[in-house]
Formats: sequence, structure tokens, C-alpha cells
Amino acid sequence: MSENRNDDQPGDGGCQCGAVRYALSAPPATVYVCHCRDCRKQSASAFGISAIVDPEALTLLRGRPEKWSRPTAGGSVMDCYFCGTCGTRLWHIARDDPEAVSIKGGSLDTPPDLAAADHIWTSRKLSGVLIPPGCRQYPEEPDG
Ligand SMILES: [Zn+2]
Ligand SMILES: [Zn+2]
Repeated sequence: MSENRNDDQPGDGGCQCGAVRYALSAPPATVYVCHCRDCRKQSASAFGISAIVDPEALTLLRGRPEKWSRPTAGGSVMDCYFCGTCGTRLWHIARDDPEAVSIKGGSLDTPPDLAAADHIWTSRKLSGVLIPPGCRQYPEEPDG
């Protein structure tokens, strides 16, 4: 846990109501836009945004997220953290890959540039969603 801070910083994020706040000490290693059905449901929107960080880079500043867990296609379990007051999804951690925390991109105060994101599960992309030219695209989950 970090020292107490009162100033907002660029790597900070939080839920819609402000009950849960977090800080990232390092920028995301990778940003994915995922068009799969789970991400569409999770975000209640067109796609999910995953900003991948090391667990040590994530510090909870305020509040205590709730957890809901679901099975993954690969036979593991995804722990999904969210604000119990307003319901904003904040981050996911797969139990078989605990070294990668998937920050839900829209919860960041400074959201990632999606022109630099990799787009996955594009086979499930909603019609009308345009992928910026130059983005890497994968019809399903990328290998490795
Ligand atoms: Zn909230
Ligand atoms: Zn997905």
C-alpha cells in the first residue's frame, strides 16, 4: 500500500462515484480492446478495454472493491473487481495468470490511446465499430 496522497496524478483512476480510487505507478505494458461477448456484457458497451499492468504497479488509494468471479474459456477463474456502490468494473485478475492485472481502461482518469491498442476477438466486433488503421487485429484470442 502506498503513502497517503492528496493530489491526483496522471496514472490514477477510479469508479464513477469516486468511492474507489487507485493509482498506477507504471504505464500499462499493453492495451487491448476486446470485442468478445464477455467484454461487451462486462462493459455494457461495444467492447472492453484492458490496460495490462504488473500487480505491484497497482495501489488502492481509497475504498474497497467488491469481487465477482466467473469461469474463463481456458478453464480458470477470472476475479472481477468493481465498486459496490456504483457498480463500475475496475480490474480483472485471472487466477492462472496473477502476474497480469487487467485495468478496465475507461476507469483511468487519463484513458489509453486506442489508436495504439491491439484489437482482439474482432470476429465478434459490433458492426459500425471502426478499428483505427495500423492497429494489430486478431479474430480471436492471440496466441501466446
Ligand atoms: Zn463507485
Ligand atoms: Zn473480451
